[in-house]
Amino acid sequence: MSESRTLVGLGVSPGIAIGRPVVVENRPLPVVRTALSVGQIEGEVRRLREGSARAAQHLTELAKDAAQKVGAEFASILEAHRLILDDPSLVDEVEKLIRRECVNAEWALEQVTRRLVAQFEQLGDLYLRERRADVLDVALELQRALQGRAHPAMEQDVGSGILLADDIPPSQAIRLASHKVSGFASETGGLTSHTTIIAKSLGIPAVVGVTGLVRGAENAHVVIVDGFEGHVLVDPDPALIQVYSLRAEEHRKRQQELLGLAHLPAQTLDGHRVRLLANIDLVHEIAAAKSGGAEGVGLFRSEFLFLQASPDLPDEEQQTRAYAELLDAFPSGPVTVRTFDLGGRKLGREVLGNPEANPVLGLRGVRLCLQKPEFFRTQLRALLRAAGGKPNALRIMVPLIGHVEEVKTVRVLLARYREELRAEKQAVPKKVLLGAMIEVPAAAMNAEHLAPQTDFFAIGTNDLTQYTLAVDRGNEQVANLFRPFHPAVLRLVARVISVGARFGIPVSLCGEMAADPLAVPVLVGLGLREFSMHPPALPVVRSLVRALSLREARRIAHKALTLATAKEVEEYLLEQLSGLLSHLKVRIHL
Ligand code: PEP
Ligand code: MG
Repeated sequence: MSESRTLVGLGVSPGIAIGRPVVVENRPLPVVRTALSVGQIEGEVRRLREGSARAAQHLTELAKDAAQKVGAEFASILEAHRLILDDPSLVDEVEKLIRRECVNAEWALEQVTRRLVAQFEQLGDLYLRERRADVLDVALELQRALQGRAHPAMEQDVGSGILLADDIPPSQAIRLASHKVSGFASETGGLTSHTTIIAKSLGIPAVVGVTGLVRGAENAHVVIVDGFEGHVLVDPDPALIQVYSLRAEEHRKRQQELLGLAHLPAQTLDGHRVRLLANIDLVHEIAAAKSGGAEGVGLFRSEFLFLQASPDLPDEEQQTRAYAELLDAFPSGPVTVRTFDLGGRKLGREVLGNPEANPVLGLRGVRLCLQKPEFFRTQLRALLRAAGGKPNALRIMVPLIGHVEEVKTVRVLLARYREELRAEKQAVPKKVLLGAMIEVPAAAMNAEHLAPQTDFFAIGTNDLTQYTLAVDRGNEQVANLFRPFHPAVLRLVARVISVGARFGIPVSLCGEMAADPLAVPVLVGLGLREFSMHPPALPVVRSLVRALSLREARRIAHKALTLATAKEVEEYLLEQLSGLLSHLKVRIHL
């Protein structure tokens, strides 16, 4: 019987999952160059061939399984990957290099992959250029086979188990979502990293930033992921399993009770209405948004369409269908689609090919879209087509705005594609609303110059916190410094809300802060009237708004803005919230 132990991380998505662990290593190991003697060469080539056969066998099995469980489209990608393994330009070239330079297979593979990827880069055709992502995937697969490491493409094996990984890229999280994984834990990640956001949207308990997770849990039979406390319990004893099962059940009941309040208006005690909207990453979250009582969509992260379709770009038809589905689901509410926020940590490699030294400060969001007019055009045309003939005004919002010119350029492009579609006799809407995401301090400080160019503001506190505090939102090493309640962030938020009011344009907030119970009183008090959040958080925020008076909220906001440190603000808000919670019939787990 193995010994029970607790690993500690950051609880980022509430809830408790108990189950069989599936351990995955996604991060590539560093590849070192080992010089071989002539006598070792044949053995090394054999090792390469055996590794390649193992990788091919694995891809064939995955493809077969995917054809049955996920669909032919995904299976064909895996089959194509297997064919790349058979292609002489990869494995044969690696063999040649091993022989020529007397080096180990891993090193030779890395050199050949780099060369191939660079060749793909030179190709003018976008489709062919995109194929470099496939080559990279296959090379990783082969590298993994050579290194004898746990495999990441384990979607089919995870089932309802708990995924424990060194790193979970958002693309993997999405695929796993359709496999009913019951919990996530990873060594990397932070409060607002994109995998965390997906886990929250899907209501899957998650803990990130758990040092030593993979080594600590690799032989475990059972694990518990406690998303409240940020604990991963490895091989807990039966008594603990029982305690946690009861807690999990209690949490489920509490969620059910809160959902029962979804029909009540989000209105303060003194009658001020707040609009609760949903953040949607995948269209299948529409149902959860509706049952949580969302009045519309405040943020559709359209780049997830890309993550799902990867390595292909979603075409105009696919995108039009997805946007129309959202508009149809909320005919009387606002539907806000954010244009692709790619680059940075999201599919940077696949979209750009060349790694950037500082991707989070690089070609990301609107900057990338304006540099890749071919795919931005597809998206803007799809948005206009989806909104044509629909009763609701589509809201298009643009991420990572730092300059007024960026908004102006997008407006010009929208007008141009509208004319293009008209000429093609396609239905286009009379009006679409164009908004700027305020997630760079420069945009918040320059909000009065952005306001006349935009129809609305959407504050993205995840990035606003990252860029204001110079703290990478996905880096567990600095997760303790990622503090949305830092006075500097709070002041920028207050500033944007007040500029919005001055210019008469709506302001919503769609970062994770909107779903944080501590933030609700202060945001309402600052004048925020649109909150957008992952659907499972809607009931809690609704209950809190209903327990507040605007007078109280204003007092809280006023005081919070005078405090000097994040800690002081957090402690003050916690104290205020405890007072408020005594009004609530349901207990809220903070
Ligand atoms: C944000 O930055 O707050 C935001 C909502 O966008 P994302 O989390 O997708 O970067
Ligand atoms: Mg953002």
